Amino acid sequence: MPYIKGMKLLRGYLADFVSLLFPQLCSACNASLVANEHILCSDCRYNLPYTNFHTQPDNIVAQQFYGKISVEAAYALYFFNKGGNVQNLMHHFKYRGMHQIGNLLGNIAGRQLKENLIFNSVDYIIPVPLHKKRLKERGYNQSACFADGLAEKLNATVELDNLIRVVATTTQTHKSRFARFENMQEVFTVDKPQRLEGKHVLLVDDIVTTGSTLEACSIELLKVPGLKLSIATIAYAV
Ligand SMILES: [Zn+2]
Repeated sequence: MPYIKGMKLLRGYLADFVSLLFPQLCSACNASLVANEHILCSDCRYNLPYTNFHTQPDNIVAQQFYGKISVEAAYALYFFNKGGNVQNLMHHFKYRGMHQIGNLLGNIAGRQLKENLIFNSVDYIIPVPLHKKRLKERGYNQSACFADGLAEKLNATVELDNLIRVVATTTQTHKSRFARFENMQEVFTVDKPQRLEGKHVLLVDDIVTTGSTLEACSIELLKVPGLKLSIATIAYAV
């Protein structure tokens, strides 16, 4: 159909013209993207600091949880270096509302994890929940976007609204108002534990530093009978 072909060509020219006026930039290194590049330039796509933790069961993220929680496997896609391209990428991801970045990174990580027998057996993917107020401000949970991208490649189901953040408000009556406020610690709870019984759950977050949030979530998840837990994040902060 010459007409459709012509339209396609025209649309291609138009896209080129628009990108001349408003060049799309790589979300990691800010270089101009060329045709067929999307979000990341080819150089970043191949040369960002991949951890390859999926090939190292004893990696540094896994080590963080030794003796604290029982984890089948732990992984981070990239090393996070201050001032580096991964920081720039995470900044775009977090503050510019780019859902596509989370999805793309989830796809890239998912392709790696698919090669690993443990990660390939994941049933559910659960993002660390944002506080409701933050979710409202930001409009989306960035870890959930990463989870979606992972789920596509791992053939797993993203489970939202099961692991939830609650505010603990018990036995504080004798404390001063300020101390009470200080003590309003956020904790996590599993809303529908029976759905996760005997399942392999992949808990995901954007950046792992001390691992304390992941640990708090894991403790709750591991109370579910027969649940096996693995952890994946986009970056590990060195
Ligand atoms: Zn780049």
